[in-house]
Amino acid sequence: MNIGKNALMVLEKRYLTKDENGNNIETVEELFRRVAAAVAGADGLFCPDADTASVEKRFYDLMTNLDFLPNSPTLMNAGRPLGQLSACFVLPVGDSMEEIFEAVKQAALIHKSGGGTGFSFSRLRAAGSTVRSTGGVASGPVSFMRVFNMATEAVKQGGTRRGANMGILRVDHPDIREFITCKTNNADITNFNISVGITEAFMRAVESGTSYPLIDPKTKSVVREESAPEIFRMIVENAWRNGEPGIIFLDRLNRDNIVPGQGEIESTNPCGEQPLLPYESCNLGSINLVNMLKEDENGNYTVDYGKLKETVELAVHFLDNVIEINKYPIEKIEEVTKLTRKIGLGVMGFSDMLLYLGIPYDSQQAVSLGESLMQFITESARAKSAELAGPRGPFPLFGESIYAGKTEPLRNGTVTTIAPTGTISIIAGCSSGIEPIFAYAFVRNVMDNTELPEVNPVLEEILRKRGLYSGELMRKIADQGSLADIQELPEDIRRVFVCSHDISPESHIRMQAAFQKYTDNAVSKTVNFRHDAAVEEVSKTYLLAYRLGCKGVTIYRDGSRDSQVLNIGKVN
Ligand code: UDP
Repeated sequence: MNIGKNALMVLEKRYLTKDENGNNIETVEELFRRVAAAVAGADGLFCPDADTASVEKRFYDLMTNLDFLPNSPTLMNAGRPLGQLSACFVLPVGDSMEEIFEAVKQAALIHKSGGGTGFSFSRLRAAGSTVRSTGGVASGPVSFMRVFNMATEAVKQGGTRRGANMGILRVDHPDIREFITCKTNNADITNFNISVGITEAFMRAVESGTSYPLIDPKTKSVVREESAPEIFRMIVENAWRNGEPGIIFLDRLNRDNIVPGQGEIESTNPCGEQPLLPYESCNLGSINLVNMLKEDENGNYTVDYGKLKETVELAVHFLDNVIEINKYPIEKIEEVTKLTRKIGLGVMGFSDMLLYLGIPYDSQQAVSLGESLMQFITESARAKSAELAGPRGPFPLFGESIYAGKTEPLRNGTVTTIAPTGTISIIAGCSSGIEPIFAYAFVRNVMDNTELPEVNPVLEEILRKRGLYSGELMRKIADQGSLADIQELPEDIRRVFVCSHDISPESHIRMQAAFQKYTDNAVSKTVNFRHDAAVEEVSKTYLLAYRLGCKGVTIYRDGSRDSQVLNIGKVN
């Protein structure tokens, strides 16, 4: 297997099966063999005379060629006693002590098994409202979020990573101001990402500069009015300060709810890419786009659509199998998940692909490519899902879904999601998700302060090919982060090798919107701002995302938190 140094380090530290003394008792090849065998086993459940050995070989090759990798829990747990394979869960939080602490318990079980949880706290009564049984006063959603946060702190995910949470509050909840500012201090509620659930009514009030009503979640009566521009400004200023809160557009999530009869979508998973109904879970997997290129005899690259189609089909087969062999942490989750059988196939290495194609990330050509690639992937994935529905049957709620009578029966309620691929892109040795390259040389800060120094392999390869590579040049790139001002590099290289901070927030959003257009679920994307960006720029970005049809926005202004995962210009 062609596995890099950093990939090996991550696998050894967290993914390979260990004995009771913490020593690795499997090799990287054995890990992929274990996963391939477990996932292929599902074919035998559907059809007793299935040739599972040949399916296993295809899954093994798919992963060891690094063409596709499933989300981390599948790599860690498939074929092992825990057997919990999904990254994404959403749990309901009801407005009673029993329901709140039931959700805390369920979240702890999910975190222990390696999954991340999302919650809407919008049903909880506002701080200060009365509690009938005791005559006391309710402490409100934010105080309960702190309880979830503490519980998460105590539970390590299967001993490997700490649980991640998404906390959402509707913009019309009476405690919205407290929620928007609950992470103003970087040390608070650290195990949560938070997002304000934005409604279209609110956005219209922002645009027309009017007020909007805050609604008591219990009585549904209007508590008071707030100025929409003022609340919007507050969200933007806080996001500018340290990246939180993000926003999600609730009406849009629900317009794409494939089974509206089952209730409303009120939350996503922790990183925002997977909207789910209460108790639904979803397993993700991503195709490495770098491996979907072909090189002609002149050294020019083009997209290999034939290979991409085959890879999509095998990946859909793989992810549908995962639903079947998954050991769900809670019975109710198994029941609800199997009603819609959602899977989330996505991509990684998109930026690296652009480098080989010689297309700058911040160009119309890149946006068009993103859109057409994702259209191709979603259409191919859906066709494969329809094919699987033949022998395996459609997802049980197909008849009441938005697809009924419009498409042929489908095995899976959704097929595509763009995940962050934070760890699996390190394993595949490519750029993460659809993100631009953060810096061409940097120190990556992962897991317990381990630092991974890196020079971008595509840059190195292309500079060597053109006889431009030198140690001195690499050091210079490491110091500056960006190539934009390195005069000794030819213009075409400086134009193509753009990094996150060379790219305007508008270009970030345009790329997110291009992928969103053909993604069933949502797109994980961080819009990077320079340290000296103005609050107004963040505001403009949020409005543009709204206009372009994104389902949410996450921003990050460089240097706005004490510790960040990626740092420019800190290579040793
Ligand atoms: N996730 C989690 N804890 C983590 C990282 C991720 O629970 O430390 C979950 C979360 O739901 C996130 C999803 O996994 O949205 C996918 O994240 P990513 O693609 O980065 O995961 P990978 O498979 O690369 O580890």
